Amino acid sequence: MNKQVKNCYESIAAQAGLAVDPTCSVIHGKRDGFDVTLFAPNTSYPYMLQIQVSALRPAGVLTNDELRELRRAHKSIRAVRQKGSVLAVSLKQSMWPKKVAENAVASVGLVLAFLRTHGFYNACQMCGKPGQADGCVVGGEVMNLCPACYALVQQGKQMESEKLANTRENVPAGIVGALLGSLAGVVCIIVLSQLGYISVISGLVMALCALKGYELLGGKLTKVGATVTFVLMLIMTYVGDRIDWAIVIARELGWGFGESFLSVGDLMQMGALDAGAYWGNLVLLYVFLIVGAVPIMLGSLRKRRAATVAYHLGDGVQPRV
Ligand SMILES: [Zn+2]
Repeated sequence: MNKQVKNCYESIAAQAGLAVDPTCSVIHGKRDGFDVTLFAPNTSYPYMLQIQVSALRPAGVLTNDELRELRRAHKSIRAVRQKGSVLAVSLKQSMWPKKVAENAVASVGLVLAFLRTHGFYNACQMCGKPGQADGCVVGGEVMNLCPACYALVQQGKQMESEKLANTRENVPAGIVGALLGSLAGVVCIIVLSQLGYISVISGLVMALCALKGYELLGGKLTKVGATVTFVLMLIMTYVGDRIDWAIVIARELGWGFGESFLSVGDLMQMGALDAGAYWGNLVLLYVFLIVGAVPIMLGSLRKRRAATVAYHLGDGVQPRV
């Protein structure tokens, strides 16, 4: 979290009577009888916040009319969603941190007042029990749970974590998986190029399929696996580009595919193939691979780390796996 975002979140917390969890940037706390959380569902957009509360009432969930009424209650409310007892109110984004804070503080007050006047009470989102429903993070997801449900999910995550720790990473099998997965990226490079495009899509497909392939056959994905997969992606991008040129050469010169594949270098030396176009194409493919694949790789490592962790917001230190 950068300093500007941190200041903005701290200002929201101070004005709304809440606190910022130091490890995961979720604003949380008890207010007006509700356990409320406020966070950016997509961390790439830290100023696009969502208010989340778990609340129930004897008369049942909010009706469509009430949902509409809540959405129109403040100009900064973008959408209101309800799933079981969980009410998620998404706020509009603003470029100005001051405006973000102002809107967030106003909306939190408004949402809680709305729930109270409509007969809602704070409730655990798993068992529906009224009363304490502490904000916590379970497998990377923000939840509101009573102490009994939290103990239960934490135990489950603990077991998952132990199981994962006991799973051995099989690097050779993982490499086979990544290789098979990266073939989807190669196909994507060739098909798109034959249609006249070079796109970030091939990088995305390559990364998603290669990482999935590694995890499926290798048992689990660690930094070692991610690094090996990335090197494989670099090689397979080169191969994909070479196959693409071989197809063009085979078509233009009427040669066999194998011969065309091997003659790319010779044709370039002879000047029959424009070296600038060849290398330019390859560089662009690598740029798109990095743009597409790096966020996916970092994201999936982070997600896998978070998947087996449960902790209470405000507890201080996030347990490490
Ligand atoms: Zn519960």
